[in-house]
Order: sequence, then structure tokens, then C-alpha cells
Amino acid sequence: MKTRRVRDFAALGFWLQSVALTTFAADQISVVQSLSLATTNRFYVANRAPLTPSPFVKLPIGSITPKGWLRHQLELERDGMIGHLKEISPWLDFQKSAWASKEGKGERGWEEMPYWLKGYGDLGYVLRDEAIIAEAKKWIEAAMASQREDGWFGPRELLTSLNGKPDLWPHMVMLNILQSYYEFSGDRRVLDVMTRYMRWENALPATAFGEGYWPKIRAGDNIESAFWLYNRTGEPWLLDLAKKIHANMARWDTDVINWHNVNIAQGFRAGTVFWMQSKDPKHLMSAERNYTKVMEMYGQFPGGGFVGDENSRPGYVDPRGGIETCGIVEFTHSFQMLTKITGNPLWADRCEEIAFNSFPASMTPDQKGLHYITSANQVQLDRHNKAPGIQNSGTMFSYSPFEVYRCCQHNGSHGWPYYAEELWLATADNGLCASLYAASEVSAKVGDGTTVKITEETDYPFSETITFKLTLPKPSTFPIYLRVPRWCEQAALTINGKSARVKAKPLSYIVVNREWKDGDSIGLQMPMKIAVRKWTKNKDSVSVDRGPLSFALAIKERRAKYGDRNANWSEWEVFADSSWNYGLVLDARNPAKSFRLERKPGPLAVQPFTPETSPISLKAKARKIPTWQLDRLNMVGALQQSPAKSTELVEEVTLIPMGAARLRISSFPTIGSGPDAREWVEPPKPKPAAFKTTASHCYESDTKDALSDGLEPANSNDRDIPRFTWWPHKGSTEWVQYDFAQPRKVLRVSVYWFDDTGAGSCRVPQSWRLLYKTGDDWKPVMGADEFGVKMDAWNRVSFPAITTTGLRIEAQLRPEVSGGILEWRVPEE
Ligand SMILES: [Zn+2]
Repeated sequence: MKTRRVRDFAALGFWLQSVALTTFAADQISVVQSLSLATTNRFYVANRAPLTPSPFVKLPIGSITPKGWLRHQLELERDGMIGHLKEISPWLDFQKSAWASKEGKGERGWEEMPYWLKGYGDLGYVLRDEAIIAEAKKWIEAAMASQREDGWFGPRELLTSLNGKPDLWPHMVMLNILQSYYEFSGDRRVLDVMTRYMRWENALPATAFGEGYWPKIRAGDNIESAFWLYNRTGEPWLLDLAKKIHANMARWDTDVINWHNVNIAQGFRAGTVFWMQSKDPKHLMSAERNYTKVMEMYGQFPGGGFVGDENSRPGYVDPRGGIETCGIVEFTHSFQMLTKITGNPLWADRCEEIAFNSFPASMTPDQKGLHYITSANQVQLDRHNKAPGIQNSGTMFSYSPFEVYRCCQHNGSHGWPYYAEELWLATADNGLCASLYAASEVSAKVGDGTTVKITEETDYPFSETITFKLTLPKPSTFPIYLRVPRWCEQAALTINGKSARVKAKPLSYIVVNREWKDGDSIGLQMPMKIAVRKWTKNKDSVSVDRGPLSFALAIKERRAKYGDRNANWSEWEVFADSSWNYGLVLDARNPAKSFRLERKPGPLAVQPFTPETSPISLKAKARKIPTWQLDRLNMVGALQQSPAKSTELVEEVTLIPMGAARLRISSFPTIGSGPDAREWVEPPKPKPAAFKTTASHCYESDTKDALSDGLEPANSNDRDIPRFTWWPHKGSTEWVQYDFAQPRKVLRVSVYWFDDTGAGSCRVPQSWRLLYKTGDDWKPVMGADEFGVKMDAWNRVSFPAITTTGLRIEAQLRPEVSGGILEWRVPEE
């Protein structure tokens, strides 16, 4: 009997602190909930002091060979849009690109090419595809050859593109490309190029790291690269650089400081990355705190994403909103980083969750097109405008390989290659950890320096069983870590076919430390129970999980081709050819019992993420809710309160894994018959807008549509409904106006001011007046009783009747604060 001791490490906060550990009968098997930091891996590049010790270390790229469905995703990526993107992307014209020129002169020298190369190169390394590696190398060589004496490389234009100052953002992506190339090839020139570039960065004034919108917010990526280089060269000034970047960049370590979905997906971790240097527990905690805050507010549905269909916006929390494909892949990358930094298996769980349930549906099954927004409830993927239901106007839902989705079109590239590189990690005690589960083969140095090959055979996440087979030149003692996910309550283990008793709590690691011999094997069984989650913040809707997979209603998908931009590439809309408006009829006492698992016989399909090839499905009982329909934007109507009333027939419906469903309902209403059951109403179908709204300014996370959306504010600080604000304009005179299609008679208006005293810097204005349009002129409305600035109430203004084609509110903001409006009503007379 042995208890695995974990060193107490005070600064490590809630996860990496010493915890009581489960003991186990067999002396070589233990279960740990936190990781030993007493040692450092001998064979692979871990953190160098004074950075915090690395519980896990990434293996050199090429050590892991993905197999099974994951390999096929990479092959689809090679044969699909990413592998052939230069045929259609204007950013990848090698002859013209500023990234390919020795002088850094040329066109299109911003983020797009680096976004693509970041995943494209790794795709080649992971598949060992010589043609891709050669193409990637061409771009990498060109970028390295453009380095100047002072260390700058790449597009010269970036040196002055932020009002005369350098835009550091695209290089943050470029550094990731160089890091991967080095990890794969060991080409020492990469270290020299990065060292010279970071020396140039280090000579910049500290304020340079607080410049611009994207660079300031995303500079955590730059810190990660500085640590990466420091771990390889030991140059102490790299830590000064990291400190300077941290001190001047956006303050993710204090809060969620920006609500753009991709900024969140990569920025939320910035403080925890810097913790490796600062060792400040507040920094360690910041990623978890930020993640929880975002998900509690905007991620109340299955799939692992959140509503940030450009920005997360107050009042837009229904699962019909979604996350950008860039947001999905940046989230997976962040989760992989945090797994290695903290050793907390929860981050690997979160990585699997969004990778299995949201990422596959962001693309067509052949990966020849992708869309911008993937939502948990999304029943029609047409090409038409969804604004203001989705913040951006224009095409957002249909699948296309073209630049309509410019950033995601390039950035989606790193999703699966990075995933494949993180399946296995080296451990601090010279072992290996199966961190993300998928069929694969890993070859790595362990124990005394012996090279072990482990073959992982499984159809996970479609199967509960994983077999590991070891190949060794000689017996060797080293630990193998197996992650126990949060949903797994009764993991079972066999070693060489013999059952080994182990009691592993969810969110732990089973560690088997013994002398391993050639031909040894481990069997891991992770029983997947069906579970029902209730989303109280989204009208008591429910979702259904089995292990790491969440399920969606199987909807018959009709793909319709459109456009004729390029004979070899198509764009697709997807329409529902079967009903989707079902509520689930659940067993009241045990909701999980309402489902029956069905399994397709035969081997797993190479591409299991389609409705036709999905290997497992669930049968459930459901009734239609006839009033649940598409809204005027052809988006699925927002959820209403569950349980819902329905007198429709009970039908048997099929649920398939969410990732396999391009059309999906995965947040379901429930059907009730008791006194609490609600009658759903048809989504309001407003008349075509009788007026147009314009403003002197509207904050990007807010919307002008809030003014007339008909939602009654609960108070001036009601942050559950959409709002209009002039943020960040302060103390200025601002306006917002309605232009009527037809002249209207008006004799009163009502205004509900936004004021977030206690939370933000918006206040009711100092004063305001109303102007009306006559001909091309604006004239003040005279004879009004009072232009009120009351909080938490409607400010009603009456005046002698006017007939006009437009009304304008002109507000004088109070000094040093901004302002906004929740609702502005102009009654029809
Ligand atoms: Zn994007």
C-alpha cells in the first residue's frame, strides 16, 4: 500500500495544491487529483526556472501519429478547403504577399496568411505529408529571409500601421508558426530569428504593448511565445519582455475586459499564462474565473461554446446565437495550454467538449466549406442576413470556402492538427499522460531514457473502451497517466488482461507506475451514462449527454448549392426536410431513463460526424410545439419557458451526436401537463420596419435595434435586455434618430434611459432635447412639458402635435461618463 505524495506548493491555488489521494491495493496503481511538481521531465523542454515547474510537457511534433476518425479529419482538411486554400484565397498569393517578400513589400500582410500557415504547417507535420511540409517551408523560409538587422521581419507596412506605430498582432500568430516548425524540425535558425525579433520587441517603449485594439487584447499569446523561447535559450531578458508585455496589455488578469468572442477565447487565459512567471495565485485563478463568468452569462447550453456572434451582447443568451469558428479553435488551443500549465484535467475535458460537439458542425462533412457561426440550436443555414439576431449582418450561417468568412477561413486550420499534437503529454516524472483520448500511436522517451511506443486503440468518444499496447526494446519503469473525465464515475482498468481494482473519482488521473515490458497492455473502460442537464438560465430547457458527447435532434438535412464563383468549389445552404419543433417528454422521476441507446453494427465510419454515419443514436419521446417556429429572420424562434404545453401526438424521435448534426436542436424544451405547463406563443413577426435608426455612435457590443425591440426594461440597469449606448464617448453631445418611411403625426415620446451606476460608467444624461425633421432641416420640438432624466422609469414627453419624417434625441452626456437608452417609443397617433 502506498499513497502517492504530492508536494505542497502554496502558490498553486485551488487545483495544484496538495490534496488527499486515494490509495490503491496494487502498489503500482494510484489515483491523483493533482500532480507532483517535485521533478522536471528529463527528455523534453519543460519550464526553466524561475518559471513554475511544468506538470505536463508537449512532445515534439511528430511524436504522435493520429489514427482512426481523427486522422480522417486531418485527411479531409488536407483534401478540403485548408489544404487547397491557395487556389481560392487572395491572401495566399505567394508572388504578391508581403509575407513572402524579402523586403517585406507586397500586398495583404496582416493576419490571414499567418492564420492559415499556423494550422497548415502543423497539418503537414502531423500527417508527415511532404508536399504540405514543402509548401509551408516555402512561406517560413521567405519570412525568415526577410529579417532585418534590427530583428524585424515580414511586412514592413506593419511597422507603422497603428497610427504610425507597430501592429504587433500578426507576428504573434507568426511566432506560433515558427515554434511548431522548430518543434518538428529542430531547425536552430528559428531560435535565432525569434531571438532577434524579441530583442527588437524588447527595445520598444513599454507603451508599445498597450497599442491598438487586437494587439493589446491578444498579447498573452506573445507572452507564451517569450516563455517558449526562454525555455529553449535561457536568455533572462525574455522574462523582462514578458513582464513588460503583461504590465501594458489588456487586464484579463482582473476580469473579462472585452466581449468579442475570439478575444475572449484567446484572452481569458492571459493572466494564467503569466502566472508561470509571477506565481501570483490571482493570476493562476484568472483563467478559471474568466471562463466561468463568460459561460455563466452566455454559455448556458450544450456544446462548449457561448453566444458571441461577434460580441457577446446583453440580452442575447438564447442557444440560437453562437460562436465564431475562430472562437472554437482558439478555445481548444487555450484549453490545451491550460492543461499543461495547471495539470487540471478539467481543461482537457473542456477541450474535448467543444472539439467533439461544436467544431465538426462548423464545417461541411467533406471540410470543403465552413460557416462563421455555430449555434446549439440552428435549424436553417441559409445565406441571408440574420442581423440583429446575429450581430453581424450578411452571410453568417451557410457553408462557403470563400472569403465571406475571411478570418475563420484561414484560422480554422489549426483546430485538428493542434488537437492531434496534444493527445499525449510528457509528465514531470518522466512518464506519459493520455490527456485527450483518440486512436493514435505515440513514441517517446520515458523512465531511464528508453523509447516506448504506445498504440492507443479506440473509437472514443463513440466507444467506452480504450486499449493501450506497449512496444519496448527492454523493460523500463515509468508511469502512465490516464485522465478520468468529469462524467466518468466508474473507470475500470485491466493490465495485461487482468482486472486491476481502481477507485478513481471524476477529474483525476489513474497513474500506473511499474516496470513495463514489451507487449504489455492496458485496458481502460470508461462507462458513459446518459445524463440530462437543465439550463435554468435558458428557460429550463434541457440537453442530453452521454460521456463527452451532447446530443441533438436528428433533422433531415437538405443541402442546396448556390453561387458560381469557382467551378471547383461550392457554397451550400442547408434546409430542414423534417420537423424540428419538438419538446421532449421526459420521465419526471428519472429524466435520463427517457432515452434508449442504439448502436450501428460494424466498424466506425471514417467520417462519423454526419447524420448518416453517426455510430450511436438515442431514441426519445417528444411532442411537437406548433407555435415554435422560425422567426422573421428564418432563425429558430427563441426558447420559451419549459415545461411547454402540447396536445400533439407523442412521437418517437432520434437524437444524434451534436457534432454530427449541421442542423440541430440540442437545447430542448420539455413537455409538461401539470399546472406549471406553459402555452408557447408564436414569435412576434413585426411589420416591416416603419423607420430607420441611426446614431452619432453605438458601442460595438450594443445595438441600435434595442431602442425599438419592444422589450420593457425592469430598471435602468437592466442588463438582461439589449441596449443602446454611446460608450465610450463621455461628456459629449450625442444623438440618435428615427427616420420614418412616411410623414407621421407625433405628440409624445417615451424614453427609458440606461444607467449602470455601481457597475459601469453610463449615467442618465445631463439634459436632452427632441428635434424633428422638416424638409432637410432639423428643428427643436417646442412647447414640451419636460425632457426628463429619471432613472428606473419611463420619461414621457408631450408636446403640441407635429407632422414629421424624422425624430432625433440629442443628449448632453454628463462630464466624464457616457450614456445610453434601453427603449425609445414613439406612439402611433
Ligand atoms: Zn473568424
